[in-house]
Amino acid sequence: MKYLLPELKYNYRDLEPYIDEKTMMIHHQKHHQAYINNLNKALENYPELQEKDLENLLKNANDLPAEIRTAVINNGGGHFNHTLFWELLSPKKEYQENEVLREIKNQFGSFENFKNEFSKAAATRFGSGWAWLVVTDDKKLKVLSTANQDTPLNEGKPILALDVWEHAYYLNYQNRRPDYIEAFWNVINWDKVNEYFLN
Ligand code: MN
Repeated sequence: MKYLLPELKYNYRDLEPYIDEKTMMIHHQKHHQAYINNLNKALENYPELQEKDLENLLKNANDLPAEIRTAVINNGGGHFNHTLFWELLSPKKEYQENEVLREIKNQFGSFENFKNEFSKAAATRFGSGWAWLVVTDDKKLKVLSTANQDTPLNEGKPILALDVWEHAYYLNYQNRRPDYIEAFWNVINWDKVNEYFLN
């Protein structure tokens, strides 16, 4: 099975002014597509791996054939991370308090505490990578960051993601990663975060 670029549930311009149309278009059509193309190419000669769930391949990357391991980690991770990221964004502004927001308050003391911790993880990730909120096996919410296209799958189930590669913000924010991180809080799809949290 070939991996395909998922369609977005909103238009590229819908996240403006927080994330601009051109960045969204290039990010989705060029960057994400490139990860998919390279993932498909890496798996080209491994039909048995094409049938496996991507999450499973990434969680057990050590079992992958050595010659494609790095390519699958980088490009499979890139596909997995971006697919999740797009789903967790939305132009919708108002959300009712839901289970995940209540649990965030419980575990971090306040939403502000959580926001600060997540923003710090995103701001201090050196070079390219991602900030995450994951649910661990013992139901703890945990903020972390990963390098490059590494996933947090071995730490827990990711329910919130922020891409802090320069390609995610440089056109609009140049070197101002903190401004991009602050803008992100306006475009989070809390219904979707809750859906991942509950399932
Ligand atoms: Mn990206």
